[in-house]
Amino acid sequence: MNSQNPLLVEWSAPFGLPPFEAIKPEHYRPAYDAALRQHEAEIAEIAGNPSPPTFENTIDALELAGQVLNRVGGVFWNLSGTDSTEELREIERDLSPVLARHFAAISLNERLFARIAALYDNRRNLTLRGEQERLLELTYKSFVRTGARLEGTNRARFAEIAERLASLEMRFAQNVLADETNYVLGLNEDDLTGLPGDVKAAASQAARDRDLSEPFAVTLSRSSVELFLSYGSRRDLREELFNAWIARGEHPGATDNRPIISEILGLRRERAQLLGYRTFADYKLEPTMAGTPQAALDLLDQVWAPARLKAAKEGQDLQRIADFEGANFKIGAHDWRYYAEKLRVREYDIDQGVLSAYFQLEKMIDAAFYCAERLFGLQFTTRPDLPVYHPEVRAFEVRDRDGRHLAIFYGDYYARSGKRSGAWMSNFRSQRKLGGDIRPIVVNVMNFPKPRPGDAALLSPMDVLTLFHEFGHALHGMLSDVVYPSMSGTATPTDFVELPSQLFEHWAFEAEILRKFAVHHETGAPIPQDLIERFVTARNVNQGFATVEFCASAYVDFLLHARPDWPPDVVAAEKEILANIRMPQEIAMRHRTPHFSHIFAGDQYAAGYYSYLWSEALDADGFTAFEESGDIFDPVVAERLRTYVYAAGNQRDPNDAYRLFRGRKPEFTALLRKKGLASSA
Ligand SMILES: [Zn+2]
Repeated sequence: MNSQNPLLVEWSAPFGLPPFEAIKPEHYRPAYDAALRQHEAEIAEIAGNPSPPTFENTIDALELAGQVLNRVGGVFWNLSGTDSTEELREIERDLSPVLARHFAAISLNERLFARIAALYDNRRNLTLRGEQERLLELTYKSFVRTGARLEGTNRARFAEIAERLASLEMRFAQNVLADETNYVLGLNEDDLTGLPGDVKAAASQAARDRDLSEPFAVTLSRSSVELFLSYGSRRDLREELFNAWIARGEHPGATDNRPIISEILGLRRERAQLLGYRTFADYKLEPTMAGTPQAALDLLDQVWAPARLKAAKEGQDLQRIADFEGANFKIGAHDWRYYAEKLRVREYDIDQGVLSAYFQLEKMIDAAFYCAERLFGLQFTTRPDLPVYHPEVRAFEVRDRDGRHLAIFYGDYYARSGKRSGAWMSNFRSQRKLGGDIRPIVVNVMNFPKPRPGDAALLSPMDVLTLFHEFGHALHGMLSDVVYPSMSGTATPTDFVELPSQLFEHWAFEAEILRKFAVHHETGAPIPQDLIERFVTARNVNQGFATVEFCASAYVDFLLHARPDWPPDVVAAEKEILANIRMPQEIAMRHRTPHFSHIFAGDQYAAGYYSYLWSEALDADGFTAFEESGDIFDPVVAERLRTYVYAAGNQRDPNDAYRLFRGRKPEFTALLRKKGLASSA
């Protein structure tokens, strides 16, 4: 069986790409079983090595263990995200507890940890080079943080908690998905007043997909909801849709996430306290750039007051438009986007449709490649001959400035059924130099609407930013130049990892880029200068609102995880936090607790939602390095950016990495300027 399983044999395609055509769903489980057994055997060999521990026979060996597992997982998790089927979802459900147990067994392997601890305790006497000292420290701490030093009943309890949390987090995610799938708002033609043609077309498609008796439908996907709330002039329908949207995960019955959240918060707190931390937030923040809960809260506090002020002013402007139109009501959370869109059109004469005509997908991909070439000297070549996992996927070979092969880049841009919503970057293989010069295979996945054959694919300005954002993550993976796989590319703390992506967004709307790449899809004419100017000014419209809805979610995430006790009633706790920060009535949290998947469908962003704002403070400050030089492609600044940020993985403390790039510590004032909050305060 194994000799025929394409996931387990050596991959002979160019660049060692996976043989996608040969891989079938039935190959995954046996491949996983074999890969897990092999990883167990490798770990047993390291732990049971009769020779005394050395860096090579323990840390290097750990870094090299599990390669088959990584290879199988690289294919499985990518494809279950882009081309999911019930068959693959069932494998995911089966695998989740198996993998949780597998990795817990490694963390709690006493003989293995004894070797790591012996090296760590003796680290001053070892002659460690370059990244080795940091790797030893990170490895030791990661074992400690996953329970390696616990004893007796605490040890057993820790393992029990890990497995219970994995299953609760998966149920949380499935409940949100169920509430989203089960709801649909069927509509007739006259319910759609105000919606642009392409939004109507999507609503008609949604009704057909679901066999509704009504000709149109709106679902609870974020883009579907936000478009209806922005354009739909039927206030009663906006309210109905909005209420359904913010109630996801909060319906009594089988999909109720409230008891699940209470249990998750309780178990996370217990886990942190078993490890000697006061709260989960203390535990979570320790290895981040912020370092302490207080540092993260300080940033939120700095932004919150000016954001609230700006939002209050925006609210008054919106109310004036509503009053002018004869509305005799105070605008509510379900009205905000609708009147904000009117304001955008009225004050800046910005029509999203007119803008989109200048943003062709093909040209915007070229623009992203062009920026990577100007900054880092990279060359992208289309390679239609290389294997891809879906006919819509494009393959590029990426070469460095000296012609050396750097990476393979896959672009998977169109929405299709079976693809998870949203946009992301991921690896099929990450970069490393240990055991051979291994170059990465990186993918960007988007959900842009697929055009009809012969038509150009047009993007909204938001889509363009998404494209640049994910390409920034891709560059972080492709430029990676480190020895050890566990420190490679995007394997950095969460409050640093959004820096390379958010920083790259800054180039998308620079005048030089727009003039070159934003050309009309029919006439080929470049975007008019006055449209650029209006568009750039209008970008700060509604920033008060956007910042308030984000910060509210960040505060709630943070304060729920920073309590030394935990609330039996999470919705009451959410209300209390919002009252304490004086949340404006007419704005809702970006993600309410019962469907806050970032923090409850897994724990990567738990007590970590602030990370986006932290990274944004860095990217705002970081881009000013280029502005100050007078050249947005300044080669000296770009070289430092490459060396200390994009190529550096996690080989340095991120605070040091940033200082080396910027020449000083980050100053957070640039963030307020970027968000247009500095002057209104
Ligand atoms: Zn990102």
